[in-house]
Amino acid sequence: MPYLFPPTTPAVAIKGRPDLFPVHRIYCVGRNYADHVREMGADPKSEPPVFFAKPADAVVPNHARIPYPSRTSNFHHEIELVVAIGKGGRNIAAAQALDHVFGYAVGNDLTRRDLQADAKDHGRPWDTSKGFDRSAVISAITPAAQSGHLRGGRIWLQVNGQMRQQADLSELIWSVPEIIAELSTFFELQPGDLIYTGTPAGVGPLKKGDRIEGGIDSLDELTTTIE
Ligand code: MN
Repeated sequence: MPYLFPPTTPAVAIKGRPDLFPVHRIYCVGRNYADHVREMGADPKSEPPVFFAKPADAVVPNHARIPYPSRTSNFHHEIELVVAIGKGGRNIAAAQALDHVFGYAVGNDLTRRDLQADAKDHGRPWDTSKGFDRSAVISAITPAAQSGHLRGGRIWLQVNGQMRQQADLSELIWSVPEIIAELSTFFELQPGDLIYTGTPAGVGPLKKGDRIEGGIDSLDELTTTIE
């Protein structure tokens, strides 16, 4: 049967390859660096990871210009390591989890912080604060075959040349294999899934005209402008 209108497949560039990584789902981990958990007013060891999702078509490529979003006056950056899943599965053991990883990217989990705070206060969902249009900025994916699996390395974000976030991947509360193991008990992971693994301390507001640069050792630098 033909489609009523052409289906769209969101996709992300792959470093050094002509083909694209088709995005199936975008999962995100909240509260995964101890210093960020503390700055948000919580105890890092008190709870298992918080998972939430964004729509697949929220992806935004490197070097994009993003309009300041509607319905917020506290629009925040969150620099994150993104894991790209190449092989699906459920109840994946942590010891085998890295076999499911195709590669890694630098991501920015853009957030309407004012709406998120209101949702937390009222026990409401996070869709409008986290899953809005153009909220999942992502660099090209570097295949793990090129970079190796990332167990450490500097993660940083600057706004207009000023350092806002700086940490090391080794400071993740839940490691990449632990995240994949836990997430795959809730959802059957599929090739094309992206997992944003959480942000370190230093999240803060963005305004029109800001130039955001972020990076993780051995991955592409991510540059975005807010307009
Ligand atoms: Mn985040």
